Amino acid sequence: MESRRVRVRFAPSPTGPLHMGGVRTALFNYLFAKKHGGDFILRIEDTDQTRYVPGAEDYIIKSLKWCNLFFDEGVDNGGEYGPYRQSDRKSIYKQYADKLIENGWAYYAFDTPDELDNIRKKNEAEGKHNWQYDVTSRASMRNSLTLTAHETQELLSQNAQFVIRFKFPENENIKAIDLIRGEVVVNSNTLDDKVLFKSDGMPTYHLANVVDDYLMKISHVIRGEEWLPSMPLHVMLYRAFGWSDVMPQFAHLPLLLKPDGKGKLSKRDGDRLGFPVFPLEWKSPEGEVSSGYRESGYFAESFVNMIALLGWNAGTEQEIFTMQELIDSFSLERVGKSGSKFDPEKAKWFNQQYLRMKTGEELADLFMPILKEQNINVSIEKVVTICNLVKERAVFVKDLWQHSYFFFQKPESYDEKVVKKRWDANIPAILERVSSLISEIKDFNSETIKHSLHEYMEANQLNMGQVMNCLRLVLVGGSLGPDIAEIINILGKEEVKERIFHGIEVINKF
Ligand code: GLU
Repeated sequence: MESRRVRVRFAPSPTGPLHMGGVRTALFNYLFAKKHGGDFILRIEDTDQTRYVPGAEDYIIKSLKWCNLFFDEGVDNGGEYGPYRQSDRKSIYKQYADKLIENGWAYYAFDTPDELDNIRKKNEAEGKHNWQYDVTSRASMRNSLTLTAHETQELLSQNAQFVIRFKFPENENIKAIDLIRGEVVVNSNTLDDKVLFKSDGMPTYHLANVVDDYLMKISHVIRGEEWLPSMPLHVMLYRAFGWSDVMPQFAHLPLLLKPDGKGKLSKRDGDRLGFPVFPLEWKSPEGEVSSGYRESGYFAESFVNMIALLGWNAGTEQEIFTMQELIDSFSLERVGKSGSKFDPEKAKWFNQQYLRMKTGEELADLFMPILKEQNINVSIEKVVTICNLVKERAVFVKDLWQHSYFFFQKPESYDEKVVKKRWDANIPAILERVSSLISEIKDFNSETIKHSLHEYMEANQLNMGQVMNCLRLVLVGGSLGPDIAEIINILGKEEVKERIFHGIEVINKF
């Protein structure tokens, strides 16, 4: 077979916000497409109107944009194979359902929901809990296989409610290849004759999904493991339509597991366990708010990098990847079979790495609005220096404040524990001396400051505790912050002097 153009789709149903597992599915599709110079398509699968949630489609699109996953074709940018929203394709599907009826691969079923319910209950009462509409049971149900052609026509002309079901062949071992799991074999007798079409004119997921993948010339279906049980049906649908030669290849991605490894990471887990499970904050139509990675302070690049390594690795020790590096090294062969545990601490680690990689200038641009909010007026140059000095300590941009606030405001209090441990009657004189030494430094920078402080300590046989710790106490209010010479350099001579004298005055009254 000649090699096909790689075309993959991400096909979410707008039933709520996009879970991080969904983002990973989109990402792997994107990486695969870009690696092979192919197309990445966004198709919205909204055939199940009962599960439609307003705002979800928009949320999905915004989330993927935030993650820098851009589509070649899709609901908002169109394309040759549109429309890309299944509700806008409604008129397409009926003819395909009809085709399957004509060629004997599907049948009408007229059983009402009540009848189905009763038969299920009856079976349950007999201890048979897995009743399904299948090769065996269909022979005793109300469908076009058991009714005469005339009866079926009658019902249809009376507009009786019906569904169209797939007709699995009897006792056939259906073979399907999954690129991650290898060959999967299922006997048709164990499968449910799934509903393909309903009398309200809507196809179900299975029919719409297969028809659209065919019409959109999809070459690879990369989706979550929860769809693995549908693969035999989909493979059979391709056969029933006579499309086996252009059937896409399937790859089912392993589940994302809770941090303790016990079970699937669900939409509910996030805020319950203290981390987001959604890329962006989501407000449900009922007003319930779920936190998002973006609002929690994660960089999109770090979030995407973290997600990429859930279930995939490059086969090397490398953990930090740009999007281009991910594209270059991605392959489905390196996607694992077993579920991958999500580790919220690792997510923070990634963000920390990305924060450290940012320049002082980049961080200052992000930090400036936080300072403005606090009515702090400071030059961007100073903020750049401060960001460079404290960035190693921060995981999120918002953490920069807690590691640097003392540059922008004088201490409002002094840590009593430090006072108790370090302060004595000699300290005020020592600090006053330090203050004049600092004001005398000509070439003022952290090196000369350090030199002058050490010289003074040595000459007077003073220890670090007496000089450095007490100096830090009056300058920042406690035993926190970066190197003291750096702090002095940034505060400047005047501010240092003021803080020293103010500190002495307040602490002497303790
Ligand atoms: N609409 C399905 C979902 O929401 C898509 C599954 C598939 O990719 O075939 O996950």
